[in-house]
Amino acid sequence: MSRVSVSVGGSVLELVRGDITQQDTDAIVNAANPSLMGGGGVDGAIHRAGGPAILEECKQIVRTLPGGRLPPGCAVITTGGKLRSRYVIHTVGPVWRGGVEGEDEVLASAYRSSLALAKEKGLRSVAFPSISTGAYGFPVDRAARVALRTVLDFLRENPGTFHVVRMVLWSAADFETYRKTLEELAASQQ
Ligand code: ADP
Repeated sequence: MSRVSVSVGGSVLELVRGDITQQDTDAIVNAANPSLMGGGGVDGAIHRAGGPAILEECKQIVRTLPGGRLPPGCAVITTGGKLRSRYVIHTVGPVWRGGVEGEDEVLASAYRSSLALAKEKGLRSVAFPSISTGAYGFPVDRAARVALRTVLDFLRENPGTFHVVRMVLWSAADFETYRKTLEELAASQQ
């Protein structure tokens, strides 16, 4: 089965295997790079599927950022262009440097900032990819623990804010890693 879910704080946390660009949530989250000018992986797929309106808005946002860059752990929001989602939340995860340079904290912050921005905008559903585990090289089992813990904590601390938060995993192996990790976290919290 390629879909599992748990209820927490009146919200549902879902894991699905699939393509982030096809999600019907109010927002999808982009694993962007600090330039916000697009790239490979999820970033490229989102810009291709959503069309030029997303990049246009990113360019305007970049002009307002100190040094023209979005720091890792932070998030901004643009239109979803032609996507089914009305919005794209762009966040920057950490580049993996062995795990001793605060990568866990920065990754947690990327999830938290994205959720906080969605909440501020009154959005009810958000879909995330597995941030930092592609080109940025973060080990997926460790990233899954950080991602799921952070989302679960946010849902508990902000009850009723979201209808659904969905993690969209591209590969079967990543889906399985997230599924097992969620099972472990749920068991340890009972
Ligand atoms: P980062 O630079 O943050 O590591 P990447 O885009 O390189 O981001 O990869 C993040 C994760 O997203 C990887 O696990 C990759 O397999 C996955 N991915 C790639 N394309 C998609 C897609 N269309 N939908 C969901 N996940 C995707």
